[in-house]
Amino acid sequence: MKRTIQIGQPELTVELRRSSRARRYSLRVSAVDGKISLTMPAGAREKAALDFLHQHERWLRDKLAGQPEPVIPAIGESLPLRGKRHLLVAGTSRAPVIVGDEIHVPQTGKPLGPPLAAFLKLQARNDIVPLCDILAARVNRKVSRISLRDTRSRWGSCTENGCLMFSWRLVMAPPEVLHYVVAHEVAHLVEMNHSPAFWRVVEQLDPDFQTWRGWLRANGAQLHRYRLAVPS
Ligand SMILES: [Zn+2]
Repeated sequence: MKRTIQIGQPELTVELRRSSRARRYSLRVSAVDGKISLTMPAGAREKAALDFLHQHERWLRDKLAGQPEPVIPAIGESLPLRGKRHLLVAGTSRAPVIVGDEIHVPQTGKPLGPPLAAFLKLQARNDIVPLCDILAARVNRKVSRISLRDTRSRWGSCTENGCLMFSWRLVMAPPEVLHYVVAHEVAHLVEMNHSPAFWRVVEQLDPDFQTWRGWLRANGAQLHRYRLAVPS
């Protein structure tokens, strides 16, 4: 099992790796997904690792802040979908289609952002709507409406009258992450707060939720790198 450690506020998740060959600590931020890992000598204490991380927290945050370069979707670039990289390939259909681990996009000469945004929104709807119904049924609640938007500040929300909203960018994350956010919003149909009782409902719907909540905190910003909105 992978060991992770959290530091600071907002929390950063760091994966700890022990190596018998490592002589010193080495801290890395993945350019692909922003994952932070700390390689340490096999015999090093976790307390020492934590001290090391605290000393380098500033560096880490600067590194992360400077990292998410915007990605303008184009043929040859890739896009994450359900947690997997999909290469964008020139296709012949009028709308983007999934072909194995590729997304075939129409060649119109126009920016790919808008058709890909519409495509992802549809994919997100296909995943989110049935999942909402399944999870809501498990807590004897009904979802009155589901809307999908491109929100920056939140991944989902729930109103008093049972309207759920989700960011369609969640479909780019691993499916477990989307599952967690749906479980979170469905749990608000039972508890309109973030009390311990609320988190117990979340846990009932998604026993592994901490892991995916952590993923979202650590990597959520990466999902906003992709310029998928309508060009202004
Ligand atoms: Zn909430």
